[in-house]
Amino acid sequence: MAKAALQEEQAEDLDLELKRTQLAEAKLRLELTKRNLEEFEAAERERERNKRQTQFQLETETQNLRTTQEQCLHKQGAPCRRPLKGTKESALRLIKLPDGFSMVIHCPICRMKVFSPHPDDRLTARREGETEAQMQARIAKFEADTARFRELLAVVESIEVGGDAVELDTGTEVTFRNARTGNPIYPRRAWDQQTAPVFHA
Ligand SMILES: [Zn+2]
Repeated sequence: MAKAALQEEQAEDLDLELKRTQLAEAKLRLELTKRNLEEFEAAERERERNKRQTQFQLETETQNLRTTQEQCLHKQGAPCRRPLKGTKESALRLIKLPDGFSMVIHCPICRMKVFSPHPDDRLTARREGETEAQMQARIAKFEADTARFRELLAVVESIEVGGDAVELDTGTEVTFRNARTGNPIYPRRAWDQQTAPVFHA
């Protein structure tokens, strides 16, 4: 009887020991998990900080570029200290793009690029998901963009270098046409959503 009681006691001790070990193990795991989580959160905070930093730099660069373009007279013959304040002939160049309908007016001094508005943007038919007001706004923007583009175009066309109008042609031209009607199709372009910079004549 005494032997049986002793065995039982030993078994209980063993059980207790096992439970202690399991508890210690669980505590260790919890500690590790906590540490991993802390490391993960720290890395996440670091990433956030870097992202904000990059975004800030990008915004600053965009802002600087915009300011430069607003101040640029897009004219040649600028003094060294004031590279944007040229007094001679216009620096603007017209580039015809290979899609056969898009044109860009570019200033090599301030890197301003003004793209010709997309011809489909003047269409007086509501697009899918477009409200009447949105359509009106789109057409108004097309007209404003066209007016500005024409203004720039007039400047480019007034420049003559050795009797030739200044125009760069990319050489290749691909026009998409509707197979049935033969009407040209104008693909949307990557820059269509961008807002064009301000121009000073
Ligand atoms: Zn310029």
